[in-house]
Amino acid sequence: MNYEKVSVPEDGEPIALADEETGELDVPTNPIIPIIHGDGIGTDVGPAAQQVLDAAAEATGRSIAWMRVYAGESARKMYDENLPDDTVSAIREHRVAIKGPLTTPVGAGFRSLNVALRQTLDMYANVRPTYHLDGVPSPVTTPEAMDMITFRENTEDVYAGVEWEAGTEGAEQVRTFLEDDMAIADVIHDGPVGIGIKPISEFGSKRLIREAIDYALANDRDTVTLVHKGNIMKFTEGAFRDWGYELVDEEYGDDVITEAELWDDHDGDQPEGTLVVNDRIADNMLQQLLTRTDEYEVIATMNLNGDYMSDAAGAQIGGLGIAPGANFGHGRCLAEPVHGSAPKYAGEDKVNPTAMILSGREMLDYLGWSDAADLVRDAVETTISSGRVTYDLHRQIDGGEKLATSEFADAVVENIESLA
Ligand code: NAP
Repeated sequence: MNYEKVSVPEDGEPIALADEETGELDVPTNPIIPIIHGDGIGTDVGPAAQQVLDAAAEATGRSIAWMRVYAGESARKMYDENLPDDTVSAIREHRVAIKGPLTTPVGAGFRSLNVALRQTLDMYANVRPTYHLDGVPSPVTTPEAMDMITFRENTEDVYAGVEWEAGTEGAEQVRTFLEDDMAIADVIHDGPVGIGIKPISEFGSKRLIREAIDYALANDRDTVTLVHKGNIMKFTEGAFRDWGYELVDEEYGDDVITEAELWDDHDGDQPEGTLVVNDRIADNMLQQLLTRTDEYEVIATMNLNGDYMSDAAGAQIGGLGIAPGANFGHGRCLAEPVHGSAPKYAGEDKVNPTAMILSGREMLDYLGWSDAADLVRDAVETTISSGRVTYDLHRQIDGGEKLATSEFADAVVENIESLA
């Protein structure tokens, strides 16, 4: 493929799709991997993660041929556009990529480039693991009880971008339609109103929940929890739950049972080797994460709930500086941390690059480089537990050594070299 706005590194080979059905990849030892450093603190954590991932690749006899691609601020500066087609095409073609955070203006301006990337590439599963690393300070007393992975639907819900600004012709047309044709008159106040639409489909729900169940089965997890607000939003969030149970019934045999079946057929005693699918209402779930942390292993939920929940869960294991994530779909992976661009710290060489580094770890795992992925995790853990941490963790511990972003990356690289 010919690109105008990115250059293809000559020292790498592309990753190919080995099996269309399973999404299995054919990964060379020197793959080309597109990277977006990102806005704000992306300029700090992007290069730091790149340095650590290079070290892990090298220590395991491989190399990464990075292909810098641009979005957000960097793309505006270079090309006067937010998301060049070449960036999307490079990620589509090369299949595995990593990105830092991108800023989205509030209330006006362009729509989220993060959402646009996920939707354009139909990366429908945003997967956010939340696990505790030794030595990471936490506001809760037993942070090690958290070992959960959230599958967040990435393409629909109120994130779909179907909304109309108050006072516009579109908003008034929708109001008129609702009031005149749908007899929904009393619930919309007079005067300016902004209106958004929340699509939740059977197709979108089932393919996301299927990913969560398949992950749980492949990784010997005991439960999958469907998180929803179906008591209030019956035909969207309630339908998500119902389609989840329908999927269990349609596609999985006796190995996957519902919580109702667990009690009706097994007196609450989970048979060895089975997976239980249960559901929780979202507001209850947020407090259960704190009070009954170890009961939750794999979560499947919609876009907005998933965003709220993964930030809250991230706080329990040390904060947004730690929490990693990645988007998946159609044999592609776009790794990205949970956190945003934290503009007030941009360029200060201050913030914690762990979330971006551990997102890279998810990417290495996807490549099938589990030895390199484990090395990254172990080196980060060794660094943090020796008290060498960035400001966010340093303010929560007694003593320790406060490191800049780049110094922390150097320390992780040193540990990769000594652990390898
Ligand atoms: P944020 O950028 O995640 O920052 C919120 C706070 O979290 C920071 O002030 C800082 O807390 C802490 N934090 C975040 N990243 C950290 C790191 N690497 N190390 C240490 N601490 C970290 O959230 P926001 O301020 O709500 O959003 C800023 C912009 O990011 C917005 O434009 C938003 O749209 C965008 N955003 C993008 C993504 C994405 O690209 N996927 C995701 C979320 C938000 P303290 O100040 O308390 O230390």
